[in-house]
Amino acid sequence: MAEYWKGAPVAQAMTERLAVRADQLKGLGIVPTLAIVRVGERPEDLSYERGAVKRCEKVGIRVKQFTLPKESSHGDLLAVIQQINADREIHGCLLFRPLPPQMDEAAICAALDPAKDVDGITAGSLAGVFTGSGVGYPPCTAQACMEILDYYGCDLAGKRAVVVGRSLVVGKPLAMLLLGKNATVTLCHTRTADLASECRRAEVLIAAAGHAKMIGRDHLAPGQLVLDVGINVDQEGNLVGDVDFAAAEELAAAVTPVPGGVGAVTTSVLADHVIQAAYDMR
Ligand code: NDP
Repeated sequence: MAEYWKGAPVAQAMTERLAVRADQLKGLGIVPTLAIVRVGERPEDLSYERGAVKRCEKVGIRVKQFTLPKESSHGDLLAVIQQINADREIHGCLLFRPLPPQMDEAAICAALDPAKDVDGITAGSLAGVFTGSGVGYPPCTAQACMEILDYYGCDLAGKRAVVVGRSLVVGKPLAMLLLGKNATVTLCHTRTADLASECRRAEVLIAAAGHAKMIGRDHLAPGQLVLDVGINVDQEGNLVGDVDFAAAEELAAAVTPVPGGVGAVTTSVLADHVIQAAYDMR
């Protein structure tokens, strides 16, 4: 029977550490501040935003929310990003994506000051992740997986890690972070020839593909550590991950639940990055 690697204790431990750092900043006359930029009213964005605001409040980070109607133009959003870049009191910016089709997402991401890119959306931040230079911030979800592995005491050196999904938001940066901890990493995707056998070989298996319960019994092997990044709605309308939880519960040594696993740590990572950005901008 697998151990449940819940996100809440990881987030709690991070929050306690961060609150101390936020207090130190306040002692220097700095209030760490996050700008949240949202275009439209997508329910998943609203839900993440509520979580982020709550987490920031707990830590002692001020949040400035910028919301635009979904019909806004590219220029409208660009002006908001430029305003955030110019505001010395703002240390980090979270931008919800995808953006509506009338906006050039790549150009908007490129316009953000890399120093304020606390969610790894600029080329500068991603370059830092890939070169291991320590410059910039990895995407929060990828980093959240690393925080979970670290909190639960997984030493990645020499372990076979398999990541299913190669997006720039999760899979690719996560592969680099795992590599940085000396895991032997395999990245799987839709063209992977035999996904089940690749997954079975993993000691650490991380699913980030976006398909409900696609990692089933065939993909799992006894004793694995399984992290489920997926957030999907199944046919019954339930929130489920990419992993068949019942199968993982039976076979794996540990599994993160959905909800309450990786997603529960993401906002703490965001808060961590904002505090770090505030320190760096002193
Ligand atoms: P994308 O759709 O951008 O990428 C999905 C990746 O999975 C692609 O690389 C794709 O391969 C691969 N993939 C899809 N289907 C299969 C398959 N059948 N076999 C093998 N590989 C497959 O998704 P994201 O990376 O943005 O998100 C992934 C999941 O994580 C989603 O469920 C999303 O909701 C969730 N998520 C959760 C967050 C959290 O905080 N917990 C935050 C961000 C995302 P290919 O490149 O070949 O198309």
